[in-house]
Formats: sequence, structure tokens, C-alpha cells
Amino acid sequence: METLRLYERQPDMMRFRATVLACRNSPCALILDRTAFFPEGGGQGADHGLLDGVPVLDVQEREGEILHFTQRPIPEGTRVEGLLDEGRRRDMMQQHTGEHMFSGLVCRLFDCSNVGFHIGSDLVTMDFSRKLTRDQILQVQDMVNEAIFRDLPVEILYPTDTELAKMEYRSKKEIRGQVRIVRIPGLDTCACCGTHVTSTGRVGQLKVLGLQNYKGGVRVSVLCGMRALEAENAMVLENQTLRHLLSAPEGSLVPALQQLLQERDRLRQDRDSLAMECFRSLARSETDRRVRVLSAPFLTPAQLRPAAALLKGAGPALVLVPREQGFSFALCMDRPEDTARALYERFGGRGGGRQDMIQGTLETGSPEEIRRFLEAL
Ligand SMILES: [Zn+2]
Repeated sequence: METLRLYERQPDMMRFRATVLACRNSPCALILDRTAFFPEGGGQGADHGLLDGVPVLDVQEREGEILHFTQRPIPEGTRVEGLLDEGRRRDMMQQHTGEHMFSGLVCRLFDCSNVGFHIGSDLVTMDFSRKLTRDQILQVQDMVNEAIFRDLPVEILYPTDTELAKMEYRSKKEIRGQVRIVRIPGLDTCACCGTHVTSTGRVGQLKVLGLQNYKGGVRVSVLCGMRALEAENAMVLENQTLRHLLSAPEGSLVPALQQLLQERDRLRQDRDSLAMECFRSLARSETDRRVRVLSAPFLTPAQLRPAAALLKGAGPALVLVPREQGFSFALCMDRPEDTARALYERFGGRGGGRQDMIQGTLETGSPEEIRRFLEAL
């Protein structure tokens, strides 16, 4: 069933009247004679809103039909009033038009293709077919914002075949039937069926938030309009909070953080050498025992092995470092396999290692229980 696509020529239409041509069940899908609801496609999400007060949860185009998925059925033949979620649609139009401006310029300036586009809930991403540098991306960002300030028209054209043949335009796929062209003078000419703002000023602004290598080319993340402003506000707030936490004056966040990290590294080194010193002292207090069991909660997991290595060659020794549950252990003795196996059987756990040392975990027991068990072996 054919639906007149009001959104194609009147992107600002947020309220319309229509007749229900069909109401299909499970899930409830309505077909209207005309609609301002944009069905998901070309990277742009579906419009949401209401039909006679019934929430429209999704809109999809399937085999040429536009299906409005509503919360409950509306009988065939009903005259309905459609009301779009205006905030959502205006946001989509800002992001989508910004994408045209950005992609159009990138493709023109750096001779590549736009191979992906998605308006996500957090970011808008565009994928390009070749590697681009940060400087190139920032240059395009400036040019797009300049074009936003100049408030250029966003033209929607329906060229004849002859006109189209003379036109240079971007297109992501083979198109049959009437081609709809979106043209922003000097920036982009592109075949597209989405919704766009009517002039570039209404995009508000475009902010690049990320650039990463992606499938042999790059993925650029941007935000436009109110979403860009909200993201910038959040960044300013985060920046202020960080400066406050670090008592760093404006513009000195990076050196303050670098200083903090250097301090942290120095303290870690100090802590590590103190922990090894404590361990040596603990080991000395155990020298008279037949089996030395050293519980060393002050050791880091990385220190377990070098600490245990200090005990080698002077009889059996077990080093325990408590974990959230149980212990990490290192067992030093000649042929430790049988002893380790006995420990796993009694206390649960596993491990592996070499001729003179096994490392692993034990699930239960206290250091005293483990000591008594080993002394009795
Ligand atoms: Zn478009």
C-alpha cells in the first residue's frame, strides 16, 4: 500500500492528519495514506510520536510500505491525527544535515568516500574509505562551522534523468526511480531520502569528538546542534571538577596530572621496596621452623614470585598473599608437585610451575590451618 511521504517535502511538519489504510496485528503495524513519520533508514533513526494519542514506537519501511508500529491497534478507516516527537526529529535533522556538510567536504577535499553513517544515541559516526589526519578533520570542522554561520540553503531537488546525468553527486547505493538530491551549495550534493533542516544555520554547530582508524580508513565521531552544546557543557563541568580536585589553575590540568602520576609512581616504588623489606624480616622470624609459612598481605600479586624466590634452597616454604577469597600462593621446595596436590585436595585450588616452585591459588583455610596441614604431611 502506497503512503504519501510528507516528510520528504515538509521536514518541519510535526502534526498531520491521515487515514488508517490497514492495521496488521502482532506486532501492531499501521499503514496510513500519508505520513510525516520518517521510517528508519540511511543512518537516521525512525521518528517517534503519537497517532490519536497512541504511542508510535517504531517506523520501518518494508517492501515499499511504511509500517507504523503502535502500542495498540487503531481500526482501518479511522481518521487520525499524527504528532511527532519534535525534539527527537529536530535532533535527527541537525545531526543528519551536519553529516552531509562534513562528509561532502571530506570527500571533496581528500578524494575519498563516505562508507558508513550512523546517528547513535550518544554519538554520530561517519566512516571514510581512507586514512585522514587530525589536522585534516579539524580543518573540515572549521569549514563546516563557517558554513553554518553563513546559513546556506539546504536544497531538495527532484531532477529529471537528463538533469541528473549532468549532475555530480554522491550516492551510497544504486537508486531506481526518482532520485532525490540534497544540495548544500559549495559543500555537498548527495542522493538522500532522509530529513534535513532547511538551512545550515539551523545545524547550530558541529563538534568533532573522536577520530580512530577503522577498516583501512577512519571513523569520525561528531555531534551537532543542541547535542554538541550539551557535550561541551559536560566537558567544561568535568574539566572544572578535575581542576578543583587537583587545585590546578585554568590551563594547567595536564602538568598537574603529570606531576600527580610521577608522584604515584614514586610512592609505588617506595611501597614495593618497603613490602620486600617487611617480607625479609618476616622470613627471618620463620628460619627455625621445619616448614616456613609466610602470610604476607602487604605484597602485591606481582611481588609474590620474587619474594618467594628469596626462600629457595633452605627447606620447604609457602608464601600466602590473601585474595578476596582464599590466597595466591608460591610453594618453594624440591619436587613440590605432590605437596601442591595435597594442598588442592584439602583446601581447593589450582596452580602450576617448575621443579622448585609452584604458584597458584587456594580457595579456603587460614594460614595456621595450612601450616598445621603442611607440618603433618
Ligand atoms: Zn541526507
